[in-house]
Order: sequence, then C-alpha cells, then structure tokens
Amino acid sequence: MDPLVARMRPFGTTIFTEMSALAVRTGAVNLGQGFPDTDGPASMLDVAAEALHSGHNQYPSGPGIPALRAAIAAHQRAYWQLEYDPDTEIVVTAGATEAIAAAILGLCEPGDEVVCFEPYYDSYAASIALAGAVRRPVTLRPGPDGRYTFDPGQLRGAFGPRTRLVLLNSPHNPTGKVFTPAELAAVAGLCVEHDVYAVTDEVYEHLVFAGEHRPLAGFPGMRERTIQISSAGKTFSCTGWKVGWACGPAVLVSTVFRVKQFLTFVNAGPLQPAVAHALALPASYFSGFRDDLRAKRDLLVAGLTEAGFVVYPPEGTYFVTADITPLGGTDGVTFCRELPERCGVVAVPTQVFYDDVEAGRRLVRFAFCKRPEVLTEAVSRLGKLAA
Ligand SMILES: *Cc1c(COP(=O)(O)O)cnc(C)c1O
Repeated sequence: MDPLVARMRPFGTTIFTEMSALAVRTGAVNLGQGFPDTDGPASMLDVAAEALHSGHNQYPSGPGIPALRAAIAAHQRAYWQLEYDPDTEIVVTAGATEAIAAAILGLCEPGDEVVCFEPYYDSYAASIALAGAVRRPVTLRPGPDGRYTFDPGQLRGAFGPRTRLVLLNSPHNPTGKVFTPAELAAVAGLCVEHDVYAVTDEVYEHLVFAGEHRPLAGFPGMRERTIQISSAGKTFSCTGWKVGWACGPAVLVSTVFRVKQFLTFVNAGPLQPAVAHALALPASYFSGFRDDLRAKRDLLVAGLTEAGFVVYPPEGTYFVTADITPLGGTDGVTFCRELPERCGVVAVPTQVFYDDVEAGRRLVRFAFCKRPEVLTEAVSRLGKLAA
C-alpha cells in the first residue's frame, strides 16, 4: 500500500525527472528543463560571496531582510508603477514556488475552487491538491495566428459560488503567451464581479519579446485583491537560489507570511543581499537580458521550423512550444521518449500540464535559455528530422 496521502498520489515523479535522466543516459542535448546554463550578473555573485564571509549565515528577518524588501518595493515602483510598503506588504519566500503554495494554502478551504489556465506550471495542481481545493481549468489553445488564446465563455463559466481565487501566470510557462491588456481586463473584471482573489505568478516579468508585461494588480479593483509573486531565479539566472517574494495588501501578504513561517520559516540568508543588489541593477541589465533571450528564441524557432514542426513563437519566457503532427507524431509523450534516439535532443511533452489531455496531445516544449553553442548544436541535430 502506498503510504502517500490520497490527494498527492496523482503526482508521481515529474516529467522533468524522466526526461533529464533520459538526456543523461543518451548524451542528448537537454532542452527539457528550464534552467540557464550560465551564471547571472557577476556583481550579484560577488555580493553573495561577500555575504557568506561576513556573518550573514544565520536566520534572516522573518519577512526577508529589510534591504531586499526595500529593493523589491523600488523595483515594483520603477518597472510597474505599483506601490508596496516594504514593512507590511512584501514577504520574501523560498522561491516563487513557496509563495504560490503558501498563498493557496493560506486562502483556500477544502472544496474551494481555483480558476487557472492550462497547461499549468507543474506545482499549481499539487499546491491546489494539498489545500484540498479544486482546480477549474481554462484551456489555452493555439489559434490560426499561432498565438495561444482562450474561450471567454469557458473563462466566465469557470467562475462560480465556490471560486476563491484565480491563479494567473503571465508571461506563461509553457506556452510563452503574454496575456494582452484586453485578456487581463477580462480576468480582472470577473475577479471584481465575483469578489475573488488573484494570485499572479510573474517570474518572467522581464522576459517579454512582443507586447508588454502588465501586472494584473494594476487593473481597476485589483490591487486590493491580488497577491503578486515573482522571484530572482529566472530574471538573474540563479534558479538554484530559490529567492522569491509576494507583494500585496497587508492582509493578504500576512496570509502568505503566516503559512510560510511553518513551511520554511526563512530561507537563503546570504543570498538575500545579493538579490537586493541585482534588483537595483541599471535598466540596461534587464533589457540586455531580454534581448539576449530574444535572439536565442529566434535561433531555436528558426531551427524548429526548418526541422518541420509547426512552431508557436513565444511572446515571452524561456520556452517555445511546437506541434509534432507534421513529423508524424501523434502523442507528445511517445515523441519525446523517442526524440533522443532519433536526433539527440530532449524536449518535454506539454500534455502532462493539462486536465484536458487531448488539447495538449501533440504539443512539446523546448527551452532556449541555453548558451548559443548549445542551441546551435541542438538545431543542427533537429535538422536530421527533416531529412
Ligand atoms: C520557474 C517557475 C517558477 C518557480 O520559481 P522559483 O522561484 O524557482 O520557485 C514558478 N512559476 C513559473 C511559471 C516558473 O516557470
């Protein structure tokens, strides 16, 4: 008998574990998991090293060190024109993942419903299940123009008397979709109409290649009901640091903080000063990082198109999705298991991130947050598929 509680049993080892093991076993280029293969800004690493050697190794302040909370507030103001009081409206967490889990665990009673867009980031379904809450998916599908969109009727229909919150990720992993102002306004309108909370995952806030990032908290009626979440991992290429944060009205941030206290209490003491430093880097760091990723996106999109995939060029994030149908694929899981053998590249099937598996059956995701030579090698290998 599996000793694991029933509500966690549907969550086996993640697809990333299987595909990364496959990459190691076969020597394939791993474009499965979304982590960069270079370090973030050197000055940030210097501040971290200095902190390790100058007595920052004990429990930091519960909500995060004051310098980091001040830097988060300044960054919110500079980039998104949002004002948060560093003393009451910001909490530092063990990555965005903990902030999301703590927000859901802190806000949802068993049976409460969470509206979220599928395919979802893999921790969402598990956090919702841990809370005993119920997910109400709204499906993103690629349209004729190659952009992922949703049916406004399905969004409206997902709201009901048990809705507690909407979980929104934009820029969106795995599709690379950046929600448009009109789409965000529709989500905001329903949150206000149904008087529910929003939890927003904005870890790719600085990686927008087309359109613009607009925090949902900036829409009318949303600031007072939104927990806005981000993290250092993606923006500063330090996914192993797990320094995230949640911002919102004091009463909501306090729900995150009270749960977080008993999950991890505090985290990443010596890394917090370094992230405070990084958030205050000049704007040229953020635009340069985005331009670098855009060039990598273009390289991989061209390579995948050349190889014969139907490619959905992403508007943001680290990822591009593609349809395998023209290459004879009918199922992404089978396709991804065979891909290392066929051409020496690893991708992940996105169907595992849907409740409506059919909607994602033929879609696979590739990460382009890799060194140019790695992407060039992957593109050359993928070229074998066209032959
Ligand atoms: C990577 C990622 C996260 C996790 O962020 P951490 O700070 O590493 O916890 C959360 N959401 C999305 C959409 C991601 O891609």
